[in-house]
Amino acid sequence: MQKSAYEIKKEICEVGHKLYDKGFVAANDGNISVKVSDNEFYCTPTGVSKGALTPDMIIRIDANGNKLEGKLNPSSEIKMHLRVYRDRPDVNAVVHAHPPVATAFTVAGVELDQYILPEAVLTIGNVPTCEYGTPSTMEIPDSLAPYIENHDAFLLKNHGALTVGHNLTKAIFTMEEVEFNAVICKHARELGNVEEIPCEQLEKLMDLRKRMQIPGRHPGCKKCKNLGTENCRCKHNAGGSHTCTCGNHAAPAASADLVAEITKRVMAELNK
Ligand SMILES: [Zn+2]
Repeated sequence: MQKSAYEIKKEICEVGHKLYDKGFVAANDGNISVKVSDNEFYCTPTGVSKGALTPDMIIRIDANGNKLEGKLNPSSEIKMHLRVYRDRPDVNAVVHAHPPVATAFTVAGVELDQYILPEAVLTIGNVPTCEYGTPSTMEIPDSLAPYIENHDAFLLKNHGALTVGHNLTKAIFTMEEVEFNAVICKHARELGNVEEIPCEQLEKLMDLRKRMQIPGRHPGCKKCKNLGTENCRCKHNAGGSHTCTCGNHAAPAASADLVAEITKRVMAELNK
């Protein structure tokens, strides 16, 4: 059943409150949008804390960012949302925030590309860092271009993160997953070592993702460091995954019950 305008506005507010409560945004940072048709979108206004959003503040705009309804004005960062909708017809919701740990990775110049948590592997894969751009200009939407086809989560260099989904719940869950993955990765680095999930286990997760028909895009199994060179001896499969035989992914084997356990957890998550 199609949601009413009020329901969509209320849902956007709830996501805004969540972003604020989690410390993913400071002051008036961040923005959220939902697509209702090819030329109609609801989005958050500029100049309002996401923690103080009420449904009457939500604006309706067209695909060029012109306001169709609402007393406040849309955020200047809405350009990057519109770029995503233009290039990804499967996307119906976009969330932009400044989750502190994931953002710190971009400030430190550290890629968030290690496959360390099965759930993050299943849902997002590696998160690319888009080139730095001046907020409110076309530089940020343009910086997404190289990654937009194969990713649902993006880091914006020295700025924040952007996540997309076929619905708003998926977009906010992906934002939470990006930050959680970054937090665990940071802790592991502080403990002195990061052991990635071995390639054969990644392959199983990729198979599982296909079987579960998880919606959205995924970059596939991370490519080995020697990919494309004559030193690469990995077996490369359709869809970007590969079976590692190059020895670059030596790590202790994950539990044999891993896949069964993840299936259970992800199914529970999706049924929420
Ligand atoms: Zn921002």
